[in-house]
Amino acid sequence: MTDIVPAAALDSLKTLNKSQRMPVLFLGHGSPMNAIEDNAYRRSWQALGAEFGTRYPQPQLILCISAHWLTRGYWLTGMAQPKTIHDFGGFPQELFAQQYPAPGAPQAAQEISQALSQPGTGVPVGIDEGEWGLDHGSWGVLKPMFPAANIPLVQLSMDYSRPASEHFAIGQRLKALRDHGVLIVGSGNLVHNLRAARFGPGSQPRYDWAAEFDSVMGGHMQSGNLAALQDFQKLGEVARLAHPTHEHYLPLLYAAGAVHSGEPVRSFNASFQAASISMRSAVWG
Ligand code: ZN
Repeated sequence: MTDIVPAAALDSLKTLNKSQRMPVLFLGHGSPMNAIEDNAYRRSWQALGAEFGTRYPQPQLILCISAHWLTRGYWLTGMAQPKTIHDFGGFPQELFAQQYPAPGAPQAAQEISQALSQPGTGVPVGIDEGEWGLDHGSWGVLKPMFPAANIPLVQLSMDYSRPASEHFAIGQRLKALRDHGVLIVGSGNLVHNLRAARFGPGSQPRYDWAAEFDSVMGGHMQSGNLAALQDFQKLGEVARLAHPTHEHYLPLLYAAGAVHSGEPVRSFNASFQAASISMRSAVWG
């Protein structure tokens, strides 16, 4: 990654019209059950979705970066009707029965791929014609937000082998899409350690390391020091405990990269599920 492609690279989009600037979201998704359970998280997503068309413009397209799609290289879903993927096990049948029939956006995916893949400056982004679809990192939050499933939805995969700085830089490139009616949604968790999770009735007290990581990174989000989010591994043991693998952290870097300097931030869901999963979420813009 040599340079950041400026807005001009994405200004040539033909299928996406110039629009009022869209906000950018990072959503902590937590347990897959949040998609169907009536709880505070799901209600927050329903309330947020209702703000589109009122406080915020209606998206022409949703571009979701989910913790659950990791690939070699980068890929965009390019099918006209992406399938709903139930990428989890051990949950009730009701969860497996969920469908999110949002249309894809093959033409827009092609154009975004070309804009991101410009020789010499970009990262190659392929078009997935049927391997993936919509995983629960995307439909789990977007179905409560936009139950009508009528906004075209494209997922962008993440190459886990690449450094944090590259994920942030791709987010910076995506920034220009916000002026073309694209709602960028990073879906992961600010702290995510399933092995340490304490399930059980009621809320479990969070671990000290979980609280520390959440507080430091939440502080950067709140103060607008977003570039510092790339350096999460500098927290050493605290970071390793917060993210034994960091695929749930990376979607935050895409969202943060797409934020303009000085943009207002609104945090919500600043609480933990199962003691080791931070649900802290943010809307910028
Ligand atoms: Zn997840």
